[in-house]
Amino acid sequence: MPRPERTFRTQAVILRRQDFGEADRLLVLLTPEHGKLRAIAKGARKPLARQTGHVELFALADMLLARGRNLFIVTQAETKEPFLPLRDDLVRATYANHLVELLDRFTAEQDTGHEEFTLLVAALGWLCEDVDPRLVARTYELRLLGLAGFAPSLHTCGIGQEPLEPQDQFFSAMDGGVICPDHYAGLTRGRPISLNALKALRYLQTRPWETIRVLNLTGPLHLEIEHLMLAYITYLLEQRLQSVEFLRRLRREEE
Ligand SMILES: [Zn+2]
Repeated sequence: MPRPERTFRTQAVILRRQDFGEADRLLVLLTPEHGKLRAIAKGARKPLARQTGHVELFALADMLLARGRNLFIVTQAETKEPFLPLRDDLVRATYANHLVELLDRFTAEQDTGHEEFTLLVAALGWLCEDVDPRLVARTYELRLLGLAGFAPSLHTCGIGQEPLEPQDQFFSAMDGGVICPDHYAGLTRGRPISLNALKALRYLQTRPWETIRVLNLTGPLHLEIEHLMLAYITYLLEQRLQSVEFLRRLRREEE
C-alpha cells in the first residue's frame, strides 16, 4: 500500500487560532482536499517567525503541512488573501465568526469538501465588500444548508408538494420549508412568511452574488428573513444534536 505523503502543499483558511505553549500557535484550518485539520505553527509568536509567522484569523494561505504524530505541523505559510476588513471591523468580524461557526456545526471534520471551502472563501470575500453583511449571511446560510442537504423548499408546499401560489404562506422547519395556507390550516407548527420574504429567499438561494449584492431590502424584510433562517437553523441543529445523542445512547446500550 502506498504510504500517505508526509508533507503536502495545500490552500487553507484559518478558522481558529489559539496560543499553544510558549511560542507556538494551534490552528484549525479548512482545506479544499483534506477537510478540517488541526495544525501547529511552531514559533509563530516569536517576532521573527518568518516561515510560519503571519497567518491571521480568517486569512487564506498557501501552506506546506507535515503529518506529525497527533497534529499537522505548518512548515511554510504564505498569506494569499488576508481579508483585512474582517480584522479591522468588529461587525464584519462577528459575521465572519458566524460563517465559521455554521460550517463547524453542519460539517464533520473529514467530510468538509471542496464546495464548502469555495463557499467560505467566497463569503469571506463578500464580507469585505461595501455591502450589507446581512445579505452575505443569509446567502451563505442558504447555500451551506444546500450543501449539507437541508435546502429549505421554497417553490413547492412542504406537505402537499404542489406548486406554491404567489401569496403569503407559512414556514415550517419540521416540514422542510414553506407550506401553503390550505395545508397549514389546523397545524400548530410553523409561522407566517410574507410573499416578499419568500421572494427574497428564493433570490438569495439561486442568484449569483453579483446580482444579490446590490439588493436593497427594507429593515423589516431583513428582520423577517433573519428570524426565519435562524429558527430553521436552530431546529436543524437541535435535530442533529438529538440524533448524535441517540447514536451515543445506542452505542452505550450495545456495549
Ligand atoms: Zn400545500
